Amino acid sequence: MSEPHDPISKAHQQSLPVDAVTPESLALKRVEQELRVSWKDGQASVFPAFRLRKNCPCAACRTEREKDTGSLLPILKTSPDDIKLTSAQLVGSYAIQLFWSDGHDTGIFDFRYLRALDDAS
Ligand SMILES: [Zn+2]
Repeated sequence: MSEPHDPISKAHQQSLPVDAVTPESLALKRVEQELRVSWKDGQASVFPAFRLRKNCPCAACRTEREKDTGSLLPILKTSPDDIKLTSAQLVGSYAIQLFWSDGHDTGIFDFRYLRALDDAS
């Protein structure tokens, strides 16, 4: 596994303490459509599914976002409400992979990226 090249995650790979990027517990709430993370440093994060999908770090979604940023009228192809988070799976000890109802499963959220996403809200 190489370092992620995504500029967003790269920018956030600053010197966050290890405890701040180590989850103590992870819970996917399918009914609420939320991912809840308790971090070792005591912070608790709640990520609504649509927000995770909007910030999906996979190459395809990043390309889509870059295209949208460049256009004056970004077109939402699918309403985020129609896409459900169906399951999640740990990837080694550094990331979580999310599975969506539309079959999308290439988004691997490393914990530094997740934490940075929460701190950015
Ligand atoms: Zn994606």
